[in-house]
Amino acid sequence: MQIMNLPGPKAKALIQRDQEVISPSYPRGYPFVMDHGKGTEVWDVDGNRFLDFAAGIAVVSTGHSHPRVVRAIQEQAEKFIHISSDFYHEKWIELGEKINQIAPFQEDAVSFMTNSGTESVEAAIKLARHYTRATEFIGFLGAFHGRTMGAVTFTASKPLYHRDFYPLMNGVVHVPFPDPYRPVLESLPGEEYGATVVRYIEEQILGHLLPPEDVAGVLVEPIQGEGGYIVPAPGFFPALRELCDRHKILLIVDEVQSGMGRTGKWWAIEHFGVEPDIVCAAKGIASGVPLGVMFARKHLVNWKRGAHGNTFGGNPLACAAALATIEVIEEEYMENATQMGDYLMSILDEMAVRHPSMGQVRGLGLMIGVEFVKDRLTKEADEKLRDVIVENAFVRGLLLLGCGRSTIRFAPPLGVTRSEIDEAMEIFESALTAAEQSLELDEASSKDRGEVQPIAA
Ligand code: PLP
Repeated sequence: MQIMNLPGPKAKALIQRDQEVISPSYPRGYPFVMDHGKGTEVWDVDGNRFLDFAAGIAVVSTGHSHPRVVRAIQEQAEKFIHISSDFYHEKWIELGEKINQIAPFQEDAVSFMTNSGTESVEAAIKLARHYTRATEFIGFLGAFHGRTMGAVTFTASKPLYHRDFYPLMNGVVHVPFPDPYRPVLESLPGEEYGATVVRYIEEQILGHLLPPEDVAGVLVEPIQGEGGYIVPAPGFFPALRELCDRHKILLIVDEVQSGMGRTGKWWAIEHFGVEPDIVCAAKGIASGVPLGVMFARKHLVNWKRGAHGNTFGGNPLACAAALATIEVIEEEYMENATQMGDYLMSILDEMAVRHPSMGQVRGLGLMIGVEFVKDRLTKEADEKLRDVIVENAFVRGLLLLGCGRSTIRFAPPLGVTRSEIDEAMEIFESALTAAEQSLELDEASSKDRGEVQPIAA
C-alpha cells in the first residue's frame, strides 16, 4: 500500500495562501486540498486519489458531482439563479411537496427553506416558541446543532463552542444523552436506560427546575453526530414522545446529519417508531449545494406573513439539486445505504475481534462510528490513537473524520460500492495497525527513559 508524502507542493502553497486570508476558526483536520471528485473518489490538487468516507461531513449524499444533480443545477442555472423569497417559483413548491411526502409524521408537513443546518435549527427554535408561547427548552450533553447564537446554545459537544461567546440564548437546560455504552445515570432494577434518562428529565428537570408549561420543546439528534455517532438506547424515543405528549412539549428532531436516507430510511427517527413535531434538515439534502429545511406538522406553522424569512430561502439552484438528490436516493441509494451499511458494519465487527482498541462499533445504515479505547473493561477513551489512525488513513488515501472523544465516523456517499468499502477497509486496518504499533513503540521508549506512565482509571 502506497504511503503518500502529504501535503504535496501545490497543496502546501495553497494552504499558505489560505492562512493569510481565511478565518483561522475553521476546524481543519489534515491538509487535503480538493481538486475534483466523482462518486466516492476525490483527487487533490497534486493529483493524489483518495476514497472519501467523510462525504464532506455527510453532505454529498449522492456522491461527488452525481451526473443527475449536475444536470439539474446546469439546467436551472440556464433559466435563472435567484428570485428572492418575496416571490414564488415552481422548484421550491415541488420541493415542499416532496418533503411533505417523505416527512416522518402522518399530518401534512409545511416547510421553511434555509441555507444551512444551523439556520434550520434557529427556525425550529423560533417556531416552537411562537406556537407554544413557552420560552424554555431541553437539549442534550454531547449534542451538536450548529454555531449561530441560538443553535450554539444547544450545542454541547465541546466547551470550545461556548468559550468566549457568552451570553448565549436564555432558556436551555442540558441533560445526558442516553448513550448505552457510557451510561451516566443509574437505572432502577429492570429499567431500560432510555427510560431512565426520560425519568431523569421528568423527576429532576421538570420536577425541580422547569415548570412543564414553560417548556416549548425538546431538541434532540436521533443519532448524535459530532458527539460520537451514538445511537440512543432503544426505549428512549418512545418514552420521550410520551413525556412530550403528556406535557404538551414539542419534540424537535435535528436530522441535519442523520437524515436524507443516510441510515437507510429518510429520517433516523423512523427507526424508533415515534413521530416528531418539527424536523431540522440540511447537509445531504442537496448533495452539497447549500440548503436546509425546517419542516413541521402543518397546524404548528401558524406564524404570520413576514414573521420569519430570509433572502436565499428556496434558492432555485439548491431546490433543483435537492429534487434530483431525492430522486436518486429514492430510486437506488436508500436501499444501498442499508445493504452497504450492513456490509461495512460486518467488516468492522470482524476487525474488532483482531483489535481490542476498537471499543465499540455502532450505527445505522451508512452512519457508523468506531470508538477507540485503551482498555475494553475500563473504556478509557483513546483519543491519541484515534487521531493517529485518521492521519495514517489520509496518507494511505482514505478520508475519515473523527467525532466524540475518540470515535471515527464512517459516512461515505450513499452510493458507495462493495469494492470501495473493501478498499477503504484494507486502508483503515493498515492505518489502525500502524497507529497501534507506533503508539506502543512510543510508550516503550518513554518507559525506557523512566518517564511515569499515567495510570488507567
Ligand atoms: N445539526 C447537526 C446534527 C449537525 O451535524 C450540524 C453540522 O455538523 C448542524 C446542525 C449545523 O449545520 P451547519 O454546519 O450546516 O450549520
